[in-house]
Amino acid sequence: MDSVKLTVPPEVVALCDALRAGGFEAYLVGGCVRDLLLLREPKDWDITTNAKPEQIQALFKETFYENEFGTVGVVTESEDPRLKVVEVTPYRIEGKYSNARHPDEVRFSDNIEDDLKRRDFTINAIAYEPVTGKLVDKHDGRRDIKRRVIATVRNPAERFNEDALRMLRAVRISAELDFAIESGTSAGIVANAKQLEKISRERVRDELIRILMSPRPMQALYVAQKLGILRYVIPELEEAIGIDQNQAHSFDVFEHLLRSLQHAADKGWSLEIRLAALLHDIGKPASRRWSEEKKDWTFHGHEVVGARMARKILNDLRISGEMTTTVVSLIRWHMFFSDPDEVTLSAVRRIITNVGTGHIKELLNLRICDRIGTGRPKEQPFRLRKYMSMVDEAMRDPISVAMLKIDGSRIIKLGQEAGPRIGWILHALLEEVLDDPKKNTEEYLESRARELMELDNEQLQTLGEQGKNRREEEDNAEVQKLREKHHVN
Ligand code: ATP
Ligand code: MG
Repeated sequence: MDSVKLTVPPEVVALCDALRAGGFEAYLVGGCVRDLLLLREPKDWDITTNAKPEQIQALFKETFYENEFGTVGVVTESEDPRLKVVEVTPYRIEGKYSNARHPDEVRFSDNIEDDLKRRDFTINAIAYEPVTGKLVDKHDGRRDIKRRVIATVRNPAERFNEDALRMLRAVRISAELDFAIESGTSAGIVANAKQLEKISRERVRDELIRILMSPRPMQALYVAQKLGILRYVIPELEEAIGIDQNQAHSFDVFEHLLRSLQHAADKGWSLEIRLAALLHDIGKPASRRWSEEKKDWTFHGHEVVGARMARKILNDLRISGEMTTTVVSLIRWHMFFSDPDEVTLSAVRRIITNVGTGHIKELLNLRICDRIGTGRPKEQPFRLRKYMSMVDEAMRDPISVAMLKIDGSRIIKLGQEAGPRIGWILHALLEEVLDDPKKNTEEYLESRARELMELDNEQLQTLGEQGKNRREEEDNAEVQKLREKHHVN
């Protein structure tokens, strides 16, 4: 038996120690062992043991056990969220599968080797005993880690037939680790792809999200397409294959979507942006028309068709309502006119209203993905910065008498007749407040307004005009500062 030293947190070692002191075996297993061998940080720590659930519970102060797989959550004293609860599962032996989803029954075993045999991939089927350093690697997982391949434990077709989700897991794990899928395993996926139909959309969604959030979603979706499983995840994407675009584009719609998505991943952008990038032109195949006049393809209204299709796709994948709303609206408005030399501030305001102030930045990022996805080399940083500066300008509260802690109706209540004098008084007050913001209190402004009301028209108008000019200067200065912030001056 092999023995190696891997770095395991003391809380986990203590847990294994306690199981051993109780007379049981205890191994780390699955993703955490794989990640330790790869020198990656494990996402969570899974322990497997020959103790039964009740025996595990008896050994620890605080546990919970509320599932059908025998997994007991052991609560530790750790501050680290990944260590607060460590899952301990009895060795399991898989019963028969009759529905391509889950075993008909869960049976416990006394033998670690049974447990490793039921696991999906060789790299996920290595057990490690942290106390002694003993490794149990019956399926050559370490060899496959070295070769960087994903291969099923035992016969691929049988394993995919037991649980069809494993096919999507293979693609997901290959995207996360940058591993290839071994040829026999690939062939097993091709032969069993249709079984994915039987998997719940929630489980498909969880794997898809992990694919999208991985560093290599483009490659993963290409592989999924080649292996024939993409059509059971988002069938509409297959329709985009071979759909040529107009002369501005080098790629078909499918490749353009994947490249846009990949840029969002390269930038580390959110799931919302990644979904929007992946689906933003999904309406193009259905809206493509040949224009005799232009001698080119047109896609009028594809963003409207696409938004509707995206809503259906995301609903079908059980993506949350809130996220769906955001993604659909990003797709609906992704064609916004953005030439900063021609666009007006009010057009920018309209876009912000359409997509919502909280999402305008995402819309701009989606535009960046779209551009990069056409294969054009640059992000056009200057024009984009200029547009962003206009967005900031449109969202800013302008400097105006509305900032004052007094308004026209209050001044009328103080005894001033309605008329131009009200505006002059307000602007005179504004000038004082711009000089000294501390003066912006109801108390001060009321008493100062009373004094101004004593002035004759000529004197008051002069002060008022001064105030207006000052307002304009300050407002321009603010806009100027914004432009400097975006380096567009
Ligand atoms: P990560 O922790 O990065 O998500 P993981 O490999 O730990 O990766 P989990 O979903 O946490 O993935 O599963 C833990 C372990 O359980 C896997 O490493 C694998 O050994 C086993 N496993 C999970 N899902 C399946 C499945 N559908 N069929 C067989 N074994 C599985
Ligand atoms: Mg895990």
